[in-house]
Amino acid sequence: YEDRLDLEALVRAIPNYPKPGILFRDITTLIEHPQGLRVTIERMAEAVREHSFTHVAGIEARGFIFGTGVAMALGLGFVPVRKKGKLPGQTIGQNYALEYGVDTIEIHDDVLDASHNVLLVDDLVATGGTAIAAVNLIRRTGATIDKASFVIDLPDIGGAEKLRDNGVDVHAVLT
Ligand code: IMP
Repeated sequence: YEDRLDLEALVRAIPNYPKPGILFRDITTLIEHPQGLRVTIERMAEAVREHSFTHVAGIEARGFIFGTGVAMALGLGFVPVRKKGKLPGQTIGQNYALEYGVDTIEIHDDVLDASHNVLLVDDLVATGGTAIAAVNLIRRTGATIDKASFVIDLPDIGGAEKLRDNGVDVHAVLT
């Protein structure tokens, strides 16, 4: 049954959120299903199991849900990539462009170094702007990051292709 669980049917599409003209993919319906969360995480972990990562980095906030699960499934520690001002220790930050304005993501500056190999996890890749900012931030520590795993890729928007152009191999459970 779980091999055939239709995860795509568990993602809800909400028109005109957060703005008119946007079709938002809502994963809350996927994670509240009794098998949906676990099967999604199992499929994400299975796709990268042969690689030797030292950490999973998840992007606030929905990347924490899936990234924590993938880290547990692979027996790895979890690194939160947070919005500006949320981490208590010394941080390094990376700006990235939004449609209007800029945003900043941060990690603790003492968590990663050149001996580490990081898997990036988030719920969804659209333009790739958020994920590429996370990759650039993590690379500044000297750590290797050449794989990213998403629940959903929206390929028409082109983010996964941009990540591949930046040397990051992309896996997505749903396209
Ligand atoms: P990007 O930076 O354009 O690739 O957008 C991806 C980021 O925005 C991720 O952190 C997602 O969580 C969030 N995001 C964008 N569109 C959606 C959506 O339709 N559903 C859920 N999250 C989204």
